[in-house]
Amino acid sequence: MCVICTDPIESLVDATELNCNGCPLVSAIPASLVRLHTLWCCDCPALVSIPDTLVRLTFLNCSGCPLLASIPATFTRLTRLDCHHCPRLTAIPPTLTILTRLECSSCPRLAAIPSTLTNLVRMNCSDCRLLTRIPYALTRLSRVSHFGCPWLPENAVAYPTHFPSLLRLQRWFRHGRKQVFKRVLRTRAFNEFVFHPDRIGGKLVKRQMEAELGVMRPAKQQRVE
Ligand SMILES: [Zn+2]
Repeated sequence: MCVICTDPIESLVDATELNCNGCPLVSAIPASLVRLHTLWCCDCPALVSIPDTLVRLTFLNCSGCPLLASIPATFTRLTRLDCHHCPRLTAIPPTLTILTRLECSSCPRLAAIPSTLTNLVRMNCSDCRLLTRIPYALTRLSRVSHFGCPWLPENAVAYPTHFPSLLRLQRWFRHGRKQVFKRVLRTRAFNEFVFHPDRIGGKLVKRQMEAELGVMRPAKQQRVE
C-alpha cells in the first residue's frame, strides 16, 4: 500500500514528489499529478503505465516493474532515468535530450540507445543482450557499464560479425534457402538427373521395386545361369 492507494487524489494533486515503491496494488500513476518533478515507483508488480501528463518530471525511478512497457516521450525534462530490470521495456524515448544519467541494465528487450541523448554522462546498460552499439554521438559519456552485452565491441571478441548482418544471414538460411531448395527439388531437370537408372535415385527406385516385386528375383537368377 502507498499514498496513491490510501490518500484521496485531491490531497496529492499539489505534490511535487511521490514515492509508491514496492506497492503491489498500484497499476497506474494518476494522470492529474502534473506537478510532480520526482517520482519513485520501483518494484510495483502491477504498474502498467506512467501517464504522459507528468511533463515536469526531472527524476524518474521506475525500475523493477515487470509490466511497464514504455516511458512517455513527453518527459523531456528528465535528467535522470532509472528503468533497470523492466523486462517489457523496448525503447528509451529519443526526446529525452537533457538526460545526464541513465540506468537501464537488465532490460532484455532494449535494442538501442537513441543517438539524441547527447548529454548523457553516465550510463549502465549491463545485461542488455540485444544492444549492438553505443552511438558515437554520445560524446559526453564518460562512465559506461556494459557487462553482459555480448554484441558491444569491447565484449564482442567471440562475435566479429555485426549483429544485424548475422540476423539477416540466419533469416536467409531459415527461409530463403529452404525455398530455393524446394524449387530445385521440383524441377524436371533435377528429377531426371537424380532418378536416372544409373544414379542414386534411380538405383534406390530399382532396389525398392525389387523388394516389392520379390517374385522377380528368380527370373534374374535364371538370367545369371
Ligand atoms: Zn499503493
